[in-house]
Amino acid sequence: MVSSTSTPSDLHYTLRCVESGAAVEERYTLSCPDHPKSLLRADYAARQIDPRDIGNVFRFMDWLPVGDVLPGRARPVVFRNEDLSREIGVDDLWIAFTGYYPERGAYAASASFKELEALPTYSRLRRFTDSSVVVASAGNTARAFAEVGNQIGAGNVVVVPKTASGRLSVTDDNGMTTLIAVDGDYSDAIAVSDRIVALGGYVPEGGARNVARRDGMGTVVLEAALTSGRLPDRYFQAVGSGTGGIAAWEASMRLIGDGRFGDRLPRLELAQNEPFTPMAKAWSAGRREIIDSDLGWGKRDEEQVYADVLTNRHPPYSLAGGVYDAMSATGGSFRTVSNVDARNAERLWMTYEDVRPNPAASVALASLVSAARSGTIGKDERILLNMTGGGLERAREELGTTTIPVAAEVPADADDDSLREALYARGGGHRAAARCRGGPGGQSAVRPEQGVH
Ligand SMILES: *Cc1c(COP(=O)(O)O)cnc(C)c1O
Repeated sequence: MVSSTSTPSDLHYTLRCVESGAAVEERYTLSCPDHPKSLLRADYAARQIDPRDIGNVFRFMDWLPVGDVLPGRARPVVFRNEDLSREIGVDDLWIAFTGYYPERGAYAASASFKELEALPTYSRLRRFTDSSVVVASAGNTARAFAEVGNQIGAGNVVVVPKTASGRLSVTDDNGMTTLIAVDGDYSDAIAVSDRIVALGGYVPEGGARNVARRDGMGTVVLEAALTSGRLPDRYFQAVGSGTGGIAAWEASMRLIGDGRFGDRLPRLELAQNEPFTPMAKAWSAGRREIIDSDLGWGKRDEEQVYADVLTNRHPPYSLAGGVYDAMSATGGSFRTVSNVDARNAERLWMTYEDVRPNPAASVALASLVSAARSGTIGKDERILLNMTGGGLERAREELGTTTIPVAAEVPADADDDSLREALYARGGGHRAAARCRGGPGGQSAVRPEQGVH
């Protein structure tokens, strides 16, 4: 599918299948050839992390599966807030924030930690192919991949349910995103994106299977360990797929290997938003598998949550190296958070900080409040709270936004020819340049050298 332009000996890492430990050839590879139910993991040559003087996530490039450094400003920032700590009753609290919050030095325009995943993914991808990446998402993942793709001039295809097609915006639309609206729901959008990848010349973003996405998210823990001096004892995050939890575990193992940050894995303290809490249910029943009843009643449970980015029906929970293994290895626990508690946590945050958190980040804060109240956190324990997003409204006001126009609308059962036509409608992810900020209607010009793949 992907032609190799780089020999493995150029690379500063080896891909290994978690289940067997076997080395796997890196060609933007997303799965273990012999073990479909195992994640791959990157094994880096550098034993110690030596942060570079780079203003974005590439600061940690020794532990990212990347080639060229890309521009952009997304990186996690880590800080303390003593008043908030006191109010919650957690003394040694460190807050990691990714989003748009200039007062704290955070400038991720798409306003979530998905931008930490998008940057390394594009860099990894470029090393092996000039194909466009395909993303099926109506939320933060799509916004992050579209934002970065437009900033760096990389083609990308975003597939969304028609009902969500008016919501995709970026700070500068350079025409790199081909937005395809599917007449159907989110599962139909995923199915259409799979068929686009199967046409050839397009690659999937890979989700949790993409080591660039996981290790990009893992930089939150790296930043926290470097800022605070050691690994935290507990790591709090709200999860939908749980990929951030896997990433935190993997980054922690690397930091233990580094030797300077402690020798104990942080406990994963993951939270889901009630009533949609499939991983929390499977975990509390001691199951490695998610069963139908964990998913609740049809779509009803998903539609009732405050933080809709946390409603993933197919999380990488059972895979070797996935959420179940991460929770087992770290002695982790799941909490569930009601909408009321999430909104209260948001209010609490807004009392002490000047940026509106993403609802998912409020769920994480609420779970920390609840853990502190129940007395589970020891006096000397160091806590890392991952505020995974925030500041979208501010980013929109201060940076300006352009809504990406729909390139084509397709039925859920669109055949290959109509998909090809849809992709060509705007140049297959390489529609070029020059539309003015503020909306469609500017000029567009094709950049022939980029072609269509
Ligand atoms: C995607 C997302 C999450 C959930 O992350 P996972 O680790 O993939 O479950 C949490 N918060 C925000 C803001 C997100 O965009």
